[in-house]
Amino acid sequence: MKKASIIVSACLVGERCRYNGEDRAHPGVARFLRGKKYLAVCPERLAGWGVPRPAVEFHGGGAKQLAEGKATITDSRGRDRTASLIKGVTKALRRAISLQASEAILKEKSPSCGVGKVYRDGKLTRGEGIFTHWLRRSGVKVRSEESFAKEGPKKP
Ligand code: SF4
Repeated sequence: MKKASIIVSACLVGERCRYNGEDRAHPGVARFLRGKKYLAVCPERLAGWGVPRPAVEFHGGGAKQLAEGKATITDSRGRDRTASLIKGVTKALRRAISLQASEAILKEKSPSCGVGKVYRDGKLTRGEGIFTHWLRRSGVKVRSEESFAKEGPKKP
């Protein structure tokens, strides 16, 4: 059987795994994935987090600083969720590597999956999620759902 080569944020393909119990199913992403092998993953669910759950964001730095131990992931109750989320991201990354994923389509603005924008210290700012950071370091090409029009991929 052909291995999956595309990783996708589970919420983008209809899984109601977001912190607020919603999904972010995207018609353009669904159209792009039709007939292709892909694997949907949610690093936060793989961390064992429930639905719904308190929202999380970066504190004191972004994904790079977090990898260096200089930033944290904190939830809306002020709890440090860094170690827990790293466990979920590690599981998601292992799946991507074992499936020899070459590309990923991830949900923008998430501290796990964000591609070019994330919430940090209460503000939306430039940056990438932890899962995105580690996928890129592993050589996986990552883009967000914002690369896709509702009808399908945007033209270059
Ligand atoms: S953005 Fe990523 S971590 Fe957040 S719900 Fe979607 S798949 Fe899960």
